[in-house]
Amino acid sequence: MTIAIYPGSFDPITYGHIDIAERASKIFDKVYVAVLINKEKNPLFSIDERLEMINESLKHLGNIETCSYRGLLVDLAKEKKAKAIIRGLRAVSEYEHEIQVAHTNKILNDEVETMFLTTDLKYSYLSSSLVKELVSFGGDIKHFVTPFVEEKLIQKYSSK
Ligand code: ADP
Repeated sequence: MTIAIYPGSFDPITYGHIDIAERASKIFDKVYVAVLINKEKNPLFSIDERLEMINESLKHLGNIETCSYRGLLVDLAKEKKAKAIIRGLRAVSEYEHEIQVAHTNKILNDEVETMFLTTDLKYSYLSSSLVKELVSFGGDIKHFVTPFVEEKLIQKYSSK
């Protein structure tokens, strides 16, 4: 059984993330979509809210499980017996940071490989930050997130 982890902030999950998860789910027997808890980031949504939105957005995929993790990704990979860490690559600007993280993870645990999936061109500009900015100004986000996530974003900003 080949297992992969797709880690990220998912604050919130967008169609770009969904595309990567769908493609990873075709390659691996099981994919854990993991919300990593990062103290340096100031997320809009709680872990539980993010997990709920991920579960709702990926419910059409039978081999996906979600989890959250406070700690090193390589330790989570060991715990889940994952052979691969999946990352999406949107632009050359992301490459430098991603390659540093991938090399570091390889040194920490050489049993796990980082695999990059290139973004679908139609989502190459899309990020959670862009969606949050748009919705904060009342912009239409239906092309970027599922209706469920759109509703949660609108609720969040209307209660701010
Ligand atoms: P992180 O803080 O770990 O970068 P994100 O939630 O922003 O968390 O992204 C998680 C992963 O999903 C990253 O590998 C990122 O490159 C990828 N990703 C985000 N948006 C897109 C997109 N529009 N298309 C493809 N991959 C994406």
